[in-house]
Amino acid sequence: MIELKEIRKSYDVGKQKLEVLKSIDLHIEAGELVSIMGSSGSGKSTLLNIIGILDEYDSGDYTLNDTLIKNLSERKAAFYRNRFLGFVFQSFNLLSFKNALENVALPLYYQKVRRKKRNIKAMEYLDMVGLKEWAEHMPGELSGGQKQRIAIARALIADPKVILADEPTGALDSQTSFEVMEIFKEVNDAGKTILIVTHEDDIAHKTDRIIKLRDGIIVDEEIAIAS
Ligand code: ADP
Ligand code: MG
Repeated sequence: MIELKEIRKSYDVGKQKLEVLKSIDLHIEAGELVSIMGSSGSGKSTLLNIIGILDEYDSGDYTLNDTLIKNLSERKAAFYRNRFLGFVFQSFNLLSFKNALENVALPLYYQKVRRKKRNIKAMEYLDMVGLKEWAEHMPGELSGGQKQRIAIARALIADPKVILADEPTGALDSQTSFEVMEIFKEVNDAGKTILIVTHEDDIAHKTDRIIKLRDGIIVDEEIAIAS
């Protein structure tokens, strides 16, 4: 599903080059629940943004769902992003002036699905994350955990191949974090490929495989023991 070969990425910082990813090889199969773990600054977000076609890489090859993702126009990048990927962020990124249902329905709005159809579907996904009763509520009236469940429903509604989550529990207390991880587990059990970036060991151990990143290099991979 996801295949990275010798991916390198650096940023220009003044006159110097900061090498952030140093020849990353990574293979993730369809249906896997994987975490990328590493301390702050190790390159996790950079790696996830490349996989999410939000950022470009300098050299190597990235193949997503048998499509080579390289030197794409912004239009093509958006096309593959919308078709293959769903995103979940630490800060939820909900629209504060739209209610829960409208937030979940947003990807379908951009796909020009009619209001009635998208609202029916959004309600199904809200139900799936246990928030059917909260459809009319605005984000400001919801807890962090509820907001993240809405963001997960929004990420899923267009039926992407892969869910990419950057520190999805980073703003949540540990009880709520585990509840959110349970939702990811259920979504993965239903067959979705999920990649979660975290710097928290206990969150990583809720996934099936942990990829450890240090200073832009994969230093270790372990098969997690279910906890
Ligand atoms: P992580 O998500 O693991 O904390 P990042 O991928 O965000 O790490 O960042 C890795 C390194 O790259 C850090 O040293 C960061 O300061 C640097 N970096 C990230 N984005 C940029 C950018 N746009 N320009 C310059 N340096 C950057
Ligand atoms: Mg980061």
